[in-house]
Amino acid sequence: MTSSTNVQTLKNFIGGQWVDSTGTERVIVPNPATGAPLAEILLAGKEDVNAAVAAAKSAFQKWSKTPVPKRARILFRYQQLLVEHWEELARLITLENGKSFKEAYGEVQRGIECVEYAAGAPALMMGSQLPDIATDMESGMYRYPVGVVGGITPFNFPMMVPCWMFPLAIACGNAFVLKPSERTPLCANRLVELFQEAGLPDGVLNVVHGAHDVVNGILAHEGVTAVSFVGSQPVAEYVYKTAAEHGKRVQALAGAKNHTIVMPDADLNEAVKGIIGAAFGSAGERCMACSVVVPVGDIADELVDRLVKAADEIVMGDGLEDGVFLGPVIRDTHKARTLDYIATGEAEGATLLRDGRKDPGTDGQGYFVGATIFDHVDSTMKIWRDEIFAPVLSVVRAGSLDEAIAIANKSEFANGACMYTDSAKAIRQFREEIDAGMLGINVGVPAPMSFFPFSGWKKSFYGDLHVNGRDGIEFYTRRKMVTARY
Ligand code: NAD
Repeated sequence: MTSSTNVQTLKNFIGGQWVDSTGTERVIVPNPATGAPLAEILLAGKEDVNAAVAAAKSAFQKWSKTPVPKRARILFRYQQLLVEHWEELARLITLENGKSFKEAYGEVQRGIECVEYAAGAPALMMGSQLPDIATDMESGMYRYPVGVVGGITPFNFPMMVPCWMFPLAIACGNAFVLKPSERTPLCANRLVELFQEAGLPDGVLNVVHGAHDVVNGILAHEGVTAVSFVGSQPVAEYVYKTAAEHGKRVQALAGAKNHTIVMPDADLNEAVKGIIGAAFGSAGERCMACSVVVPVGDIADELVDRLVKAADEIVMGDGLEDGVFLGPVIRDTHKARTLDYIATGEAEGATLLRDGRKDPGTDGQGYFVGATIFDHVDSTMKIWRDEIFAPVLSVVRAGSLDEAIAIANKSEFANGACMYTDSAKAIRQFREEIDAGMLGINVGVPAPMSFFPFSGWKKSFYGDLHVNGRDGIEFYTRRKMVTARY
């Protein structure tokens, strides 16, 4: 179906069929590097959610009883198809999200790794037994899928984040309804298409495109047993509370403000390389982005100097072009919000060392903001407190490691934290005292791989069981305990 904008109107995928949305409100999906429309969606509503949940419920009957090795075999085929379509998927990610092709290529790898982990379901889903709990008595734990799972995902990882959810949920025998970000809906459709091609039965994976109405439909639907959410903090909190109110199991991953501490003994070449990659890669639109650097002691002047020089070298542009490192932010509205934050930082008295508003390319059609660095930021400032989610880096100087850790721990977020040092003693203190679920030691973006849980704390996570790793298996299964006398 084509509309007046002459771009494709994306359909929903329900019960193994591409179906038109019942929605009437159109949302254009532009290429953030050019502003040109790529596609459009019609924001779906409750009716579409009801149809998707009904299809998932019906598919669940058979899929949950399909032998686990047989389910895993479909995951293996899916993995092969994703590998075959690697470049195509990476291109789609760059087109709709704006990140560089290299970053997008890496994202596809992260998605594939989730499928590889999920293909281990036969071993991962095993229960456990104790043959002698009393004379002639035994006890055993058996693991089962939970039912229909709803997945709600953000714009910044159009492949990796959905792949944190549906491959493992489905490998565990659940059926799934995915609501991708309305800002990056293209990749999701290709992901589901390839899964069907791998042999996934109709209705096991459904996609409904939309915004809050679809989310609310999923949260309130009595046919949905569990909800996985990834997105900003206020929405994560809302989803967590609302899903729980409706009696659902829920995991909600939220925003971040990640600090990187640089000790006086750090290898500055490595630190600068790591910080530049973590602060400005993917235009700072990563929940594991480094948004605050905390140099300890005398190292500060030299570090800051080097960061500015390295930021001057960054190539900004369309992520599909060779050599581009920094792509656009996701929308013109997000660009405007970022520029507001830069103005706020100046008004708050921080020293604007590098003003990304002035970089060439920032006045064109795409939504570009150059690498921006503020020095002498402190924890009273809004630019320190809020997640800006853009290529804006703050430097907060500290006199000691104790002070650096205290600064980081003041944040209401606690997703990741990094440290550059060679000192085992400092590493131990950092590991023991920092409030964050994912730590990097001489590593810029310490995102755990799919066989470990993605482990944010404080306002970066709402729930109990995280995505991926053993937590993922626990979240997507429920247990039956059998106690027997013979
Ligand atoms: P977002 O919260 O705007 O949107 C996330 C999802 O929620 C989307 O599918 C959106 O349609 C839906 N949504 C948005 N507003 C809603 C509302 N009022 N009611 C119901 N549903 C709503 O997030 P985003 O801008 O797409 O993604 C960026 C955010 O995600 C950042 O805060 C980032 O830190 C976070 N994130 C966190 C992690 C993590 O692992 N903790 C990973 C990736 C992204």
